[in-house]
Amino acid sequence: MKPEIALISPIHATGMVELNEQYIVHRVWEAPDPKAFLASIADRIEVAVTSGLRGAKAWEMDALPRLKLLASFGVGYDGIDIAAAKQRGIIVTNTPDVLNECVADTTWTLILSTVRRTVFNDRYVRAGRWLSGPAPLSDKVWGENIGIVGLGRIGRAIARRATGFGMQIGYHGRSEQKDVPYRYFADAAELARWAKILVVACPGGKGTEKIIDERVLQALGSDSYLINISRGSTIDEPALIRALQAGTIAGAGLDVFVDEPRVPEALCQLDNVVLQPHVGSGTHATRAAMAKLVTDNVAAWFAGRPLLSPV
Ligand code: NAP
Repeated sequence: MKPEIALISPIHATGMVELNEQYIVHRVWEAPDPKAFLASIADRIEVAVTSGLRGAKAWEMDALPRLKLLASFGVGYDGIDIAAAKQRGIIVTNTPDVLNECVADTTWTLILSTVRRTVFNDRYVRAGRWLSGPAPLSDKVWGENIGIVGLGRIGRAIARRATGFGMQIGYHGRSEQKDVPYRYFADAAELARWAKILVVACPGGKGTEKIIDERVLQALGSDSYLINISRGSTIDEPALIRALQAGTIAGAGLDVFVDEPRVPEALCQLDNVVLQPHVGSGTHATRAAMAKLVTDNVAAWFAGRPLLSPV
């Protein structure tokens, strides 16, 4: 008899195949009345799977009183009520490390395409504007100062690539990290003032809400760029739009937004912005590795083995 699990939101296809093979999967997101659906399976569910963005609310945990493990797809868990899980003795797992390199590649795609105006230039060629004259010149990336807000697993992978571009690397976090040769800034605005390119790579959630605000954008300045691959919540989005429209900063490359998948029309209208639909980890290989870590955590729990990546 296969064990039963609740699937709060779908995950990558390879993970779905594995879950369906190993377990009886109750597909919560398809239920017209999720509350009633959870109540109908509550006596059998000790394991639930969700995604970092969809997360899990306290009421969903209450609806599954026997829940012991919440395995989440994604490294960020700001969508999960961690305090509520802790209170109820529910262990949460996420998918760290396996996505670092691809998220760093995405960050660099945004850095280069924003500063070197790759997307603008692509539009320039397609519209036949080249026939009337050369495209405007751009700023450069090589040799500039790069500031990273959140020098964690992903931030470090971004920094490693920056050394290949001959850049000076600075970072901001709640504390200085003694094992890196990069310059520490205790204040995000001071880092912004120093940086030509400011990359946000910290987690989302209450602690980092609008960490990039008007003050930081002013400090960044009219010849510098903002790149965000963290969460939309880390940036004061209306302030960013105003800064881009007024030329307070030179441009922005954004993978994440406050109200995904809805992106403010004002951003879509701007030429000095490159937009991506939250694809930081979005390669076949990385999404499969993330899915495997989810299913390995679930398998470990049912086998009584230690979990691979508890939060
Ligand atoms: P991590 O290893 O935990 O690193 C997070 C870093 O943020 C740490 O260096 C931490 O340093 C810093 N930080 C935490 N709270 C802070 C605060 N209040 N102020 C300033 N810095 C703070 O996490 P990770 O694995 O690198 O992932 C980072 C985030 O990237 C995830 O949480 C997720 O939101 C995002 N992400 C996005 C995508 C995408 O598709 N765009 C994909 C994967 C991940 P201190 O402890 O010293 O403050």
